[in-house]
Amino acid sequence: MNFISQKIIPSVLLLVCTTTVALAATTNTISDGPYISYADSKLAVNAICNGAVVKNSLLKSLDTNRCFNQFNKTTSVLSEHVRSPLIYQGNFDVIAVSDFHGQYDLMLDLLVNNNVIDQEYNWNFGNGHLVITGDVFDRGDKVTEILWLLYKLEQQAKKASGNIHLLLGNHEVMVLNGDLRYLHNKYEKVSVMLNTPFAKLYSKDSVLGQWLRSKNVLVKINSQLFAHGGFHPDLVQQKLTLAQVNEVFVNNLVKNELANDRSELATYLHKTNGPIWYRGYFREPKASVAQIDSLLKHFSVSSIIVGHTSMPQIESHFNGKVIAIDSSIKKGVYGELLLIQGDKKSRLTLSGEQLPLKQI
Ligand code: ZN
Repeated sequence: MNFISQKIIPSVLLLVCTTTVALAATTNTISDGPYISYADSKLAVNAICNGAVVKNSLLKSLDTNRCFNQFNKTTSVLSEHVRSPLIYQGNFDVIAVSDFHGQYDLMLDLLVNNNVIDQEYNWNFGNGHLVITGDVFDRGDKVTEILWLLYKLEQQAKKASGNIHLLLGNHEVMVLNGDLRYLHNKYEKVSVMLNTPFAKLYSKDSVLGQWLRSKNVLVKINSQLFAHGGFHPDLVQQKLTLAQVNEVFVNNLVKNELANDRSELATYLHKTNGPIWYRGYFREPKASVAQIDSLLKHFSVSSIIVGHTSMPQIESHFNGKVIAIDSSIKKGVYGELLLIQGDKKSRLTLSGEQLPLKQI
């Protein structure tokens, strides 16, 4: 809370001192939200439409033709969000993608061109499962748009017997914990305009905040294991199960909401070698082939699929035992999806081509 105030006040003062016209010019193009929170038995809605603050209004009064068109009025704002299971098995296609980092327009192109969603941005992947291995937040300036689209698609996917798995990445956890180092400056202005510390927009009393707090850090689908950063070989030595890793991680998600300090294991899981930060499949100190094999055996999977470490495209490492799916969408230029059909994996390009995996 203090962090954002300290960061914002100097820039606000500077703007006010320079000229008020400059402030108007930088903020009247901003649209963001809605930020919805649970207040008594109703919903409090705050948003910004073309620079105008819409405060404490009713959801149905939002002008979604002018602004917030990603927030479809058919979306049901749920009164509670239930944590999903960690393990899925079945005969369905899986598409995985990672690290959107606020690049909403590129995300739309990627999903539309590969028929995951239709031209109106509705679910078009039938009983398929879409996995997003974290890092929707930070860097880019259309994070809210991505969150509401995924929120809507999750409901549509379930109706079609499909599923969306949004996993926690380090940037989700950073923002929820008030670490705003990588926030796009648009959101500093949003925070000032709404007169609310940014992290509070995602508090546990908010719809998106509660939804994010219900998300897991990993998912196992058929013989594939997904997480944002990866699984350190230590976890095999410690004989930890996926359920234990997830439970300890999510039960210790937001530091200032905990009754007690994080335990040694919770601290370990939230740091460098934990599932949202680990880079050891690609960078030194690097896991060995034997360690990768022992991880696969321990978790009974044939491959581990991770984002977080940016690559020019989706890549197969360790002879297909590790798949890197952060295809540098954060740069706003290009990105890919990983398609899994039974044992076959391929990559889907921005223009909708299906190509074999690049072997590294
Ligand atoms: Zn990351």
